[in-house]
Amino acid sequence: MKTSVQIARVMGIPIKLHITFLLVLPLFAFIFASNPAPYGFGDTTSAITKYILSLVTTILLFTCILLHELGHSYLAKKYGFKIDSITLLLFGGVASMEEMPRDPSMEAKMAIAGPAVSFSIAAVCLGTIALFPSFSATAPMRIIWLIGYINIILAVFNLLPAFPMDGGRVLRAFYAKRMSYVKATQHAAYVGKMFAFIMGMFGLLFNVWLVMIAFFVYIGASEEERSTQISFTLEKVPVRKIMTREIVSVPPSWTIEEIILFMFQKKHMGYPVIEGNDLKGIITFTDVHKVPPQERANIRVSDLMTPEVISINADADSSEALKLMTIKKIGRLLVTENGSVVGILSRTDLMRTLMFLGEQ
Ligand code: ZN
Repeated sequence: MKTSVQIARVMGIPIKLHITFLLVLPLFAFIFASNPAPYGFGDTTSAITKYILSLVTTILLFTCILLHELGHSYLAKKYGFKIDSITLLLFGGVASMEEMPRDPSMEAKMAIAGPAVSFSIAAVCLGTIALFPSFSATAPMRIIWLIGYINIILAVFNLLPAFPMDGGRVLRAFYAKRMSYVKATQHAAYVGKMFAFIMGMFGLLFNVWLVMIAFFVYIGASEEERSTQISFTLEKVPVRKIMTREIVSVPPSWTIEEIILFMFQKKHMGYPVIEGNDLKGIITFTDVHKVPPQERANIRVSDLMTPEVISINADADSSEALKLMTIKKIGRLLVTENGSVVGILSRTDLMRTLMFLGEQ
């Protein structure tokens, strides 16, 4: 299911709205409309004015979140990293990058860039208020004050030393200058989890929202720790060493009925489709599984296969393979060497390798 839609492109980066955003917009507008001054417009007598002001504030708020993410992205691009997209969702914004920098000072600067943007917006907003004190009660000035105030919260919150907050990345960079990257991630994740724990306890006593955020931080810290561990383990292993060499291919002319029987015999989940010596595509169990039994005799492999074949070089390291599978959302890659297919690598191969290396 498509969960987000692209609304714009900035600096060549697609900006997307996540489906949860549809909920957020009216929810935040409602919160601003019910909050008392100066945190909202609850005191405004005209209902229409109240909701218009609240909606404008909400849209500006998310524009600020976007600018925060663009702050990270700007530096990332400057350092040569590729940003796939920025998605605005329930908890704010997420810039999705193909890889994270391993250079601690680069990572720290990129992490700081977001909160720096938020602080700058706050400074401009609150500076404007200070310059024109006699207008401070007007509707535009109230919006400006509120945006300034929220940006300070946004910056401070993001600087909390816990993954997936920016502060967690700064902390890892701090440790990474003193120890290995994996160790540094473990240390930073530990601090993040402790932080989440304390925040959660505090939240149980005072504010349920804090419990939710604590939970989110805890998951983020664990996830970051795990994915760093995985990519470091796989980096040492070339694809060639763990790929399946026996390539079982199928011809494009087969019917789905035929290929299902074949799959039960061979017990692989994905097969290259080859005609003569040409690679035509790839077909997986998931593809054929979708076809209803009564239609299986009429549909051919060539109708159902994925013609875009994603392959990786046999000498590439396995963490590259995992990254590629994750980005393309696929379960297997064809392994090539000098233009010809020499093997197939599945997620199962990668997981088996991780289990094996993890036990050593
Ligand atoms: Zn950030």
